[in-house]
Amino acid sequence: MLLSGIQKFSMLDFPGKTSCVVFTLWCNMRCSFCHNPDFVLPEWVKKQMWNLISEQAFFHFLESRKWLLEWVSICWGEPTLQKDLYSFCKKVKDMWFYVKLDTNGRNPEILQKLIEDNLLDYVAMDIKNPLGKFSEITWTQESENPYKESLATLLEGKIDYEFRTTVIKKFHSLENIIEIWKNIYWAKNYYLQNFRPGKTLDKNFEWEGFTEAELLHMKTRLQPYVKNIWIRT
Ligand code: SF4
Repeated sequence: MLLSGIQKFSMLDFPGKTSCVVFTLWCNMRCSFCHNPDFVLPEWVKKQMWNLISEQAFFHFLESRKWLLEWVSICWGEPTLQKDLYSFCKKVKDMWFYVKLDTNGRNPEILQKLIEDNLLDYVAMDIKNPLGKFSEITWTQESENPYKESLATLLEGKIDYEFRTTVIKKFHSLENIIEIWKNIYWAKNYYLQNFRPGKTLDKNFEWEGFTEAELLHMKTRLQPYVKNIWIRT
């Protein structure tokens, strides 16, 4: 595993639960609003190769926090690109931690295998835009099929999950969010995750998130369509 960083303690990744967050290197998307270009763009990724955390150091850390931590969250870049993700999750599970995976949903086979083999306890999957309109945001030419497969796998409900969209005024009209929701009507949880300004992959990115009042308005308008919708600011 190419581990680019660890947040050693969090009560926010899973509100009310103790977790550590481990970050991976590399991603197969190029979202213009991405806050982590250092872990995504090839020229930066090369530099990060000198600063990686060894698996040995990570598991040593984890062993020392068994008394404190319940969850291990595996996050960006895109963890399913890591060729030894399976064995990594297995080691974490064998130590009796719960495992959360954040994914962009582009590798459905890997997601399915991890779920089938009980190596995940929770998945947070991004839905960047309505299916068929991903490339407006991800800067990659996309077929809808892998995302449909990942959505279907999670909608089966074998494990807990959430879908989430980072909402940006330029891209996410109410109609767009309704279009997203049409594919996930029975979802357990859907989060409108507000875009926060900061460092972005597109240096000229100038778009904004929503105000809290606008998000609440959006949530109210969506409620006839969307069952379990939440706001994350
Ligand atoms: S926002 Fe996530 S999916 Fe998009 S480029 Fe960044 S790490 Fe990859």
